[in-house]
Amino acid sequence: MTTQISCNVLIVGGGPGGYVAALRAAQRGLGVVLVEAADLGGTCLNRGCIPSKALLHASERFASMRECADGAVMGLRCQGPEVDMPAMMRWKGATVEKLSQGVASLLAARGVRVLMGWATFENAKTCAVSGDNETWTVNAENVVLATGSVSAPLPSLEISGNVLTSAEALELDAVPASMLVVGAGYIGLELATVFARLGCRMHIVEAGDRMLPGFAPALVKPVADWFADRDVEVALSSRVEGVRQDGTGCITTVRDVDGNVKDVASEKVLVAIGRRPCTAGWGLENMAVDMAGAFIKVDDQCRTSMRGVWAIGDLVGEPMLAHKASAQGELVAEVIAGGRRRFKPLAIPTVCYTEPEIVSVGMCADDARREREAVSVGRFSFAANGRALSAGADVGFVEVVAREDDRVVIGIHAVGKYISELAGEFALAVEMQARMEDIAATIHAHPTMGEGLMEASFQGLGAALHVA
Ligand code: FAD
Ligand code: NAD
Repeated sequence: MTTQISCNVLIVGGGPGGYVAALRAAQRGLGVVLVEAADLGGTCLNRGCIPSKALLHASERFASMRECADGAVMGLRCQGPEVDMPAMMRWKGATVEKLSQGVASLLAARGVRVLMGWATFENAKTCAVSGDNETWTVNAENVVLATGSVSAPLPSLEISGNVLTSAEALELDAVPASMLVVGAGYIGLELATVFARLGCRMHIVEAGDRMLPGFAPALVKPVADWFADRDVEVALSSRVEGVRQDGTGCITTVRDVDGNVKDVASEKVLVAIGRRPCTAGWGLENMAVDMAGAFIKVDDQCRTSMRGVWAIGDLVGEPMLAHKASAQGELVAEVIAGGRRRFKPLAIPTVCYTEPEIVSVGMCADDARREREAVSVGRFSFAANGRALSAGADVGFVEVVAREDDRVVIGIHAVGKYISELAGEFALAVEMQARMEDIAATIHAHPTMGEGLMEASFQGLGAALHVA
């Protein structure tokens, strides 16, 4: 028997976009139904941000123990650390589980009705949901689409056996002897960092002429150096033509831009060439919403072209980041509840959790100059930062980019160990249109990496303190 439900807001997708929209809409007194086919928390919590960061953390600990075993580091010596991969995966799984249960508890506490099942729209406001043992038909005044994204396929590489997407790579129960990663973007490099630290021989194939093409070259250089120091082979301007699997491993055919072809043997192949919006299989074609290329077209309030239908997160375009999805989810709920908000951030921070980490907020100096903006730029190296030195983390720098005339900060970028923790301060400064003087005059605690931002601002003002 099918249960009929009517509600103010139906949200499809329980990722960081959908569940945040549900929490805020319920808090505003709306009757909310949230449909999720797999796991609350979506890609981010279950197969993305959280498990990858857990493994980055665990692998970093292992790598530092191994350094101590190879020879005393900071006066520390230990013997033969070992990786217990099933135990590491259980620990990662427990972290994911704790967070996912936290999301379920929050939704329950706010009175959100959660339907675990696959949603299919019959028309823009009517949705059939099919669960394991139950089916529902939901009629809603407002619909928020938050179905997220899936790994982009590579036609020459079928995902099966030892050819993996990030979802399978995050579940491996043994460290592979070797892995070839296709794509030197966020996922490719974060997971290459994990497996290189765990002792897996890595090979990276990237179609572009450099790693992380979305970040300024100076930010990427220390990351490229880290891979080079670990003998990771990186084939730039190269593409994979096909893979042969023999049950125990893979032979991948790689062609470079000059037409040279070589075969690379590896135990596993990871395909990480981007993600595409999840628009198929749930009746989008029955909803008459306009598209913008592969994405659903929305305005700056996340409205689609169909009245009362809204869309957020990875489904509506770049950047495909969890915090953008959540910000849109929070906003769309307020707008549905009668608020007047618009999604017009000055900057959305991007962070790549490589070794060292990269943070980029707003415009970089080169882009600003390309747009004929006269800029003041201040830079400070972590080689002169007390906290960085005392943590053995002196690689990298922080750079502040400001308009030359009024010195309003339009971008802050950094590469350095643990620097992701400064993404919030960087974003705050850009969003509040702080001037370089504001940052320089803000007393930063000593010793912290954040002092680097203050020093970079002093330098941009021509008043550097700790630079000769
Ligand atoms: P999703 O999180 O994809 O959630 C969509 C949900 O909708 C899914 O749970 C899916 O099951 C459900 N769904 C889809 N169709 C239906 C249907 N018809 N019926 C019912 N349910 C449905 N971003 C960051 O900001 N920081 C990071 O560190 C980071 N690391 C990442 C690492 C990896 C390996 C990956 C793959 C991604 C990472 N991302 C990261 C990106 C981040 O995961 C996404 O940007 C974010 O999850 C998008 O949120 P969303 O709510 O739009 O969609
Ligand atoms: P990506 O867009 O970051 O990188 C894909 C890379 O693959 C690019 O460098 C591209 O040039 C390359 N490429 C494309 N086609 C290729 C081919 N045929 N052969 C070789 N290389 C090819 O995509 P991703 O790494 O898959 O990550 C997907 C998205 O997930 C990211 O864009 C990001 O939005 C999100 N993500 C974010 C984080 C984070 O915030 N730390 C971490 C992981 C994922």
